[in-house]
Amino acid sequence: MASGIVGEYLALKEDSEADLLAMQMGDFYEFFGEDAVTVGEELDLKVSERSAGGETYEMAGVPVDDVTPYLTALVERGYRVAVADQRDEDGDTTRELTRLVTPGTLLETDDEDAQYLAAVVESGGRGDEYGLAFCDVTTGAFRTTAVSGTDAVGRALTELYRFAPVEILPGPEVRTDDDLLGRLRERVDARLTLHDTEAFAPGRARHALREQFGDAVDTVGLESDAAVAAAGAVVDYVAETGVGALASITRLQAYAPDDHVALDATTQRNLELTETMTGQGRSLFETVDHTGTSAGGRLLREWLTRPLRQRGELRRRQSAVAALADDALVREGLRELLADAYDLERVASRAVSGSADADALLRARETLALVPELAERIDGSPRLADSPVTDLLADLDSEGIAAIREELAALADDPPKTLHEGGLIERGYDDELDDLVERHEAAVEWFETLAEREKREHGLSHVTVDRNKTDGYYVQVGKSAADGVPDHYENVKTLKSSERYVFDELREKEREVLRLEEERGDREYEAFRRLRESVADRAELLQRVGRTLAELDVFCSLATHAAKQGWTRPELTDERVLDVTAGRHPVVETDVEFVPNDLLLDGAAAAGQERGAGGHAADDRRFLLVTGPNMSGKSTYMRQAALITLLAQVGSFVPADDATVGLVDAIYTRVGALDELAQGRSTFMVEMQELSNILHSATEDSLVVLDEVGRGTATYDGISIAWAATEYVANSVGARTLFATHYHELTQLADELPGVANVHVAAEERDGEVTFLRTVEEGPTDRSYGVHVADLAGVPDPVVDRARDVLDRLREDKALDVRGGSGGTKQAVFDLGSGQFRGTASSDGGEKEPLDPATESVLEELHDTDVNEVPPVELLSRVQEWQRRLDE
Ligand code: ADP
Repeated sequence: MASGIVGEYLALKEDSEADLLAMQMGDFYEFFGEDAVTVGEELDLKVSERSAGGETYEMAGVPVDDVTPYLTALVERGYRVAVADQRDEDGDTTRELTRLVTPGTLLETDDEDAQYLAAVVESGGRGDEYGLAFCDVTTGAFRTTAVSGTDAVGRALTELYRFAPVEILPGPEVRTDDDLLGRLRERVDARLTLHDTEAFAPGRARHALREQFGDAVDTVGLESDAAVAAAGAVVDYVAETGVGALASITRLQAYAPDDHVALDATTQRNLELTETMTGQGRSLFETVDHTGTSAGGRLLREWLTRPLRQRGELRRRQSAVAALADDALVREGLRELLADAYDLERVASRAVSGSADADALLRARETLALVPELAERIDGSPRLADSPVTDLLADLDSEGIAAIREELAALADDPPKTLHEGGLIERGYDDELDDLVERHEAAVEWFETLAEREKREHGLSHVTVDRNKTDGYYVQVGKSAADGVPDHYENVKTLKSSERYVFDELREKEREVLRLEEERGDREYEAFRRLRESVADRAELLQRVGRTLAELDVFCSLATHAAKQGWTRPELTDERVLDVTAGRHPVVETDVEFVPNDLLLDGAAAAGQERGAGGHAADDRRFLLVTGPNMSGKSTYMRQAALITLLAQVGSFVPADDATVGLVDAIYTRVGALDELAQGRSTFMVEMQELSNILHSATEDSLVVLDEVGRGTATYDGISIAWAATEYVANSVGARTLFATHYHELTQLADELPGVANVHVAAEERDGEVTFLRTVEEGPTDRSYGVHVADLAGVPDPVVDRARDVLDRLREDKALDVRGGSGGTKQAVFDLGSGQFRGTASSDGGEKEPLDPATESVLEELHDTDVNEVPPVELLSRVQEWQRRLDE
């Protein structure tokens, strides 16, 4: 028998194609064998061993009544769990698979983040077009797009990173695309699920979409077959899991990636938009987030990672933020109200799938009640009068909202935890229910007056009537009075100082109470379900209200931050400029006394356009070489430029006194890649891949931030690459660019290349002390102060002194006397024309002789030694080692 059960379990498990199967056996869902062991470990459950029919197997169970938290926990750990329910009919017990709970289709999540299920389809296996679909069943969001052209795979990955899905359905071709899958695995912590390949066939996919969205499929601009396949596969998969999530997906939105500022995965990370690179400190989101609702937080996150390119929509957002920033009183009032708003998008999904409980509906009711209150405050503010904030709520279907509220008025204010207990529904909603409640209460009241009656009729003292789980209702009489009980009393229990009795009439009334209780509970549950269904019928409206409140929340949040930090409304233009007065870094300014600085990038004459004499347009300044000492603030300055641009294209105010931002199509950054090291990839390789991507993808409408290029390789290579990349970007790409470099040789490019200018972060040196001024000034820096930093870091004096000596000589004639001291013989010179070091004549006028390999290697190592990074003791021993090699 037992092995029969295990056999049944294994067969169902195989059908389910899930990682784990929960099979109902009476009041428990049981896991067997390996599944039991896994579940036991993951959930810290007791695993028992059974044996039957000569077999031993493990077993672990969770109660049917309380299965949700267990399933949720397993799914959140990345498992797909199938559920098989038991059905008893005519004495026969059968079991069948009823649903499949997966990371991307889980409705009961408590996580406030978006929970995207994605599909990615490669068109015909050619790798030049990808279709993508993203669906969040908890909110009903459904978006789809296609990307193509050069680096289509990179663009597809960018979208995948941006949505950060928890579960991905790779299409048939993608399954063998090791490049895409490999890169995906590195950055996205998603479960990959191999769904039926037929579901990805364009014909079937289109059919699935039509079933779900009707004719809307034809009007949303879904032209790509790959996008259709991805979207259709998602719908098919959600339907197949049977968790009832499908009905919440009401809107299909096709978007073009070009609607948004392209932010590749590296840039999203480098700019620390939603998380910091080290896990320490605060991300941009964490810094600017003052939202009061989880839906608002989700939306703000989305806005920050998907900046826009449409000036119209950006102006709308700006106007809303401006109006709210202007009226602190009303804004605070709105924020206070919003703090009580519940996640309506998620209630809508749960209502549709039948998993919303009374508490969720009650909170939806309370949230809907906020809408007129919010509207009243907005209408009461003259400053908001003509702003888009007023339109937000005015555009909502207020009659529809009133109708849902009226319906939900039937819900009791303080509903019980479980749905079968009674007390869920107010009187007046359902006549039959009212009648049942009345009869039930009358029957209960009979018991409440029974004690008095018995005392009166039988002259008893010390009589109480009570009820407990095992005995039901009873009459309890004190021992002293027990002699006088009437004959029809039946003794059911003897206690220390009292006796318990029942009698026929009491039994009959008890049966009535129980029957009415059950009927009332059933009827209430029925009424509740009708209520929930009527809410589900209006899921779309609820989702809309939810989204509107989220938007209002985000506007208030952006306005709050702008007011708090003294941000300004940037002027948006299509010209290729970035003109910032007294700009600050949005995150750093909240941590330190920030020194504001100006920035001007102006690509008036972009690449390919006509230029004045010498290839220069007078005001053409689109490429800034940023120099300055280590730690002076170069990275901060450049990131600040990128973040101000990004915030402007979110519709936010920006940290500056004044800013004009020309809209960009993309922001690219490449900065020191810390964590790739940990992943075992060569930093230099990564650096070059990133550079390659930028050089391929950036356009004259892009903003490019390069923080050191070529550091990860030998000096000659490094300078050469940085040099060539600068030329290429300046001549052929024409992007607005900030490039911080420690290769001072590059600064002379400003004289040679169109649009290239030098700025430096200033430092002051007095009596051997260096002070960072944090201000950015025109022109190149004259020195890097690296030796000072080495000194500050405690590098031994002899090394620092010698380094100063070497540096001075280099400065004088760019010639390095490797023997040191006086009368040296061999020198190496960096030749700016060729970009290479070469040996030269000895300083005492001897014959030209090339450097021997040993000297050259020592020189190169010396040059590449970063005194900031090498511990002093190690430095000393290196110097000794070099001396030894030179002596040989
Ligand atoms: P670099 O890139 O030149 O090595 P960073 O940009 O990393 O220097 O800046 C070094 C430190 O200086 C940062 O920790 C930052 O907090 C601080 N800093 C940078 N710019 C400013 C500024 N404008 N005002 C105040 N502090 C700044």
